[in-house]
Formats: sequence, C-alpha cells, structure tokens
Amino acid sequence: MNPIYMDNHASTPIDPEVLETFVEVARAYPGNPASTDNLHGAEAHGRLEKARAELAQSLDAKPREVIFTSGSTESNNLAIQGAARALAGSGMHIITSRVEHPSVIEVCRHLEESGWHVTYVDSDSDGRVLPESIERAMLPDTVLVSVMAANNEVGTVNDIESIARIAHARGAVFHCDATQAIGMCDVAFNRQEIDLMSLSGHKVYAPRGTGALVVRTSGHRVRLQPVVFGGGHERGLRPGTVNVAGAAALAIAVAKAMRMRASEPVRIAGLRDQMWELLATGIPNAVQNGAANSRLPGNLSVHIPGVESKALVAAVRRTVSVSAGSACSTEHVDPSHVLLAMGQSATRAFETIRIGLGRFNTEDDVIVASGEIIKRSLELLRLSDAANAHTSAG
Ligand SMILES: *Cc1c(COP(=O)(O)O)cnc(C)c1O
Repeated sequence: MNPIYMDNHASTPIDPEVLETFVEVARAYPGNPASTDNLHGAEAHGRLEKARAELAQSLDAKPREVIFTSGSTESNNLAIQGAARALAGSGMHIITSRVEHPSVIEVCRHLEESGWHVTYVDSDSDGRVLPESIERAMLPDTVLVSVMAANNEVGTVNDIESIARIAHARGAVFHCDATQAIGMCDVAFNRQEIDLMSLSGHKVYAPRGTGALVVRTSGHRVRLQPVVFGGGHERGLRPGTVNVAGAAALAIAVAKAMRMRASEPVRIAGLRDQMWELLATGIPNAVQNGAANSRLPGNLSVHIPGVESKALVAAVRRTVSVSAGSACSTEHVDPSHVLLAMGQSATRAFETIRIGLGRFNTEDDVIVASGEIIKRSLELLRLSDAANAHTSAG
C-alpha cells in the first residue's frame, strides 16, 4: 500500500482532469506559439491565449495582465526584482515580512546587497502579518510592499486588502504571494487591488514547473524590468518559449479550484478538525501553531513536546507523508524561520510537524494517519523518557 499523501502545502498531486488537458494540448499543439507565420505556431498561439483568458477570468484580472512563468519562485523573483529595478528612481525601500517564503526573503536579501533597504516586519504570535505593522514600517521612499496571502507552514491567512490599501495610500506597489491561497481563500486580483500576484501550478493540482505572475496594467499600472533576457515573449517580461500545455493545465486547474471553493474548503477543514481532535486526544500535550481562525483549511502545524519532528516524520513515512517544518528547508538543520518569527523557541520549531490535507484526502486517510502519528509519537516519547531516566540515574 502506498503511504497516504498529506504534504499538500509542499506540492499537490495532479488532478486527473488537469492531466488530461495537459496531455491533450501537448499532443494537439506541436507548434511554437511565437512562430505564428505557420499554422502550427498560430494554433499553439491561439491555445495559449485561450489559457491566458481563462486564467485571467478565474483570477479577476485581464488577459494581458497574466505572465506565464515556471512557478512561484520565478514569479516572486520577477515581481520583486523587476519592480525594485523599475522603481529605483522613486525610492529604494522595500517592506516584507519575516514569515514569507524563501523565494521572497532571499530576493530581498539579494537586493540589500545591491543597495536597497529592506524592512522585514515581524508577524504576531499566530504568524499573521498585521496591517498596522506594515503601516508603521512605511517610509517616504517605500516603493514596494510584499506580503503573502496565506502562510505555507502554519496556514495563517493575512488581510491583504488592508495591506494593499496601506501600500497604495503611500504610492507603493503591492505584491502578494498568493500561492497557498488560490481556491482556498477569497483571491480576486482586481477587486482586492493587488498590483503583482504570484501563483504556482503544483499548489493547485496542476503540473510542477507551471505558474504565473499577474501584473496590473490599468489604473495604478505597474512597471517591471525583466530579470531574464532573450526574447519578446510574455510582453518581454519573461522571455523563453511558453509551455503551452502547462499554461492550459494551469488555467483549467485554477478554474476548477475556484469552482470548488464553495464546498472544498469546508470539506477539508472538516477533515482537518477531525484529525486534530484525534491527535489531541491521543497525544495529550500536543498543541497547534498558528491562528485558530483565518487559517488555510487543510493546514495543521502541530507541536508535540519531547518528540523530534524529523524522527517522527521518518517513523511514520511508510504510512503517511507529512513534513518537519517547511519542505523547502528540510535539508537544512536550521529551525523554521516562520516559527521563530512567531516568537517560538528553536526547540518548539524542531518538535513541530506540518500536515497539509488536500483534495484527494478522505476520512479513512485521517483515521489511519492519525493512528500512526499517535502510535509513533508515544513510542518516541517513551524512548526519550527512558533515555532521560537513564541519564539522571547516572
Ligand atoms: C511553494 C511556494 C512557493 C514556491 O513555488 P514554486 O512553484 O515551487 O517555485 C512560493 N511561495 C509559497 C507561499 C509557496 O507555498
């Protein structure tokens, strides 16, 4: 039997319907969408523009505002570096938070080395970036504010509309990493007055290596400089032949996620709550990290005192895939920067597991996975108690 998959914040499996679109478009449109002189190229171009229009509609944007990329890391790089360079003449101060994804934080660190000044605001103890913290950090030369819609480790959802308003009141551009929020939270590019928005295919049941950056072209029009050079594709902002099948798959995946928004978040939150009840009953000292409300429906960030999360994740791996902190950082020994920013200790960060429930999880999965996590946690606790008893006995 395959292990149960509960690491949906790290990556989601491809939805069969999305895969079907991907394969069909890959087969039926062999041309290069930039070679529109020949019929194959023209047809591929037509299919790409259809995907762009579909995606724009799902996100409350205009087709020309959608730039296809390889995912959110690239989108975040293009948004932040691209806007910073285009706006350098007006100011060189950027505001972001300490709980952002590394593809935001490390881009900002890189810009600091090139002369930009960056303020990394703290979150509250739930991992929420408060609008008033952004307000306090604003300076006369602030040109860009970048805050995520929902956190990939602890699931906390931010009030991005208020943050957008604060940025705009001071003439700054607002970038939002909406990767985890698509289909789970209310995300509407135009209505929420977002200027730059990143999303990734493999977090919404589309293939890895697909994604988009949405760039405002009307009203408060955003100027960007490209970070990659080599052609005029995607309005010159993202040169390179576009993955037409990937764009089509992304568009259909986002449309489906938006259609399912009425029921799916409620279903997943129900499974999550059930799982927490089982875990809290089986492991009496387990506690949750993050917000009780305003939280991604599938997210459980659980601190089990005395149980090292790496050991637990390894112990349960034949039954269920969960992660120790953030998947992007599992090769490092550093504690989660998100939990530290929330004011938690390094010990607590090393004893926290992240469970990400998704579209294909069932109640059976919840029962089996909880049973295994409880059993292995109690085993590990007994082992560490025995080791402690041994040590104190001399
Ligand atoms: C996964 C993730 C990213 C990176 O996306 P890729 O498509 O894997 O590059 C960025 N931000 C958040 C919040 C994420 O969850």
